[in-house]
Amino acid sequence: MDLKVIHECPQCGGEVELAETDRVLTCPFCGMRHILARGTARFILPHIKRQGRLIHVPYLRCKGAVFSCHLSGVAHRVVDTTVAAVSIAALPHTLGYRPQAMKMQYASDTLDTTYLKNTLTLAQAITLAESLHQTVTESAPPLHQEWIGETISLIYLPLIIDNDTVFDGVTGDALTTLTNNQDIFTPLALQSLDWQIKLLPTLCPNCGGDLRCEQESVVLLCSNCDTAWQESGGKLTAVVFETVAAKGEDAIHLPFWRLQADFAGIDLHSLADFIRLTNIPRAIQPEWEDNVLTFYCPAFKIRPKIFLRIASQLTAAQLPTTGTAQTPSRFASVSLESAEAEESIKLILASAAIAKRNILPKLPEITVTIKRNSLVFLPFFDNGYELCQEEMKVVINKQILELGKKL
Ligand SMILES: [Zn+2]
Ligand SMILES: [Zn+2]
Repeated sequence: MDLKVIHECPQCGGEVELAETDRVLTCPFCGMRHILARGTARFILPHIKRQGRLIHVPYLRCKGAVFSCHLSGVAHRVVDTTVAAVSIAALPHTLGYRPQAMKMQYASDTLDTTYLKNTLTLAQAITLAESLHQTVTESAPPLHQEWIGETISLIYLPLIIDNDTVFDGVTGDALTTLTNNQDIFTPLALQSLDWQIKLLPTLCPNCGGDLRCEQESVVLLCSNCDTAWQESGGKLTAVVFETVAAKGEDAIHLPFWRLQADFAGIDLHSLADFIRLTNIPRAIQPEWEDNVLTFYCPAFKIRPKIFLRIASQLTAAQLPTTGTAQTPSRFASVSLESAEAEESIKLILASAAIAKRNILPKLPEITVTIKRNSLVFLPFFDNGYELCQEEMKVVINKQILELGKKL
């Protein structure tokens, strides 16, 4: 489901249409671009004109890939749902296709309405979504589970209460009648709202140059002074990055998070330990006992199965790569945050393991402490259909890469 949001351009006041996953707002009227600061996104569905008291009820929206590690390997599925985040029997359990059919707006404290509190955790929402969708689940609970690249937001459904009848504020249908005009909503009302949407101009904090980005970018690059930036706490902070030089023409650079971590609960320190544990068919060189293990995780969104394949292949390859902090001329934008990459380490380890039994049963006890995380752009050869990283033997279909932007 692809959701659309309408927001006013801070520069010219024009109505800009955004996709739910967009991180950069580009105004089609004045051309100004702004970075949307992170934080829980809250949207409202438009309501019909009808007399009565307006109430907005939260639905928790979850969209993303859930990875579950079982003894047999790593399973994944894509979840895309909205479930009621407050327990009122007369409400629809999910919003269904409603958000898709109409353009939403950011929820604001200027609207004369009562917003209800969200009383559902993400874990509860997933369980509920699965029971509603009757997803087949494995018999045993997973050894480890992680959401990667998820979009979590709150979508508010408008209700209109006229006398003692509660109407769906979108369709106008009567949902229920309140007994003795009892006010069941006020006790559930949210008390304080601090819902300002913060927008930052896409200008380099170092040199003032225009940053290079696309609508889904979470890291923005400055070609002028060769720096990279991400939004954090309403400010742009520098990201350490390097670019590995391409050998020939027709190269495009893809971004990866390169991570080093300390592990507890498993004997994993060096590259040699990694080869032994995973049982990847490679002869261990003596110097590998001292080589620090580096994990590679795609810094772009892509289908779960391919995400794991690329991460495992690059991590298993462990090729020494050195580059310089230089903005590549052609590159795919960074659409997956570094924190998401950090969460995927156990998944990469489980997925790379040929000897599943050496690693999978240990997953619940393993703790990962990230020591280093930086961005690296690796060169891929573009043959028109596929992008190929020859040294690391990784091939990515261009169409799948393009489709990943919508995830
Ligand atoms: Zn504008
Ligand atoms: Zn700059």
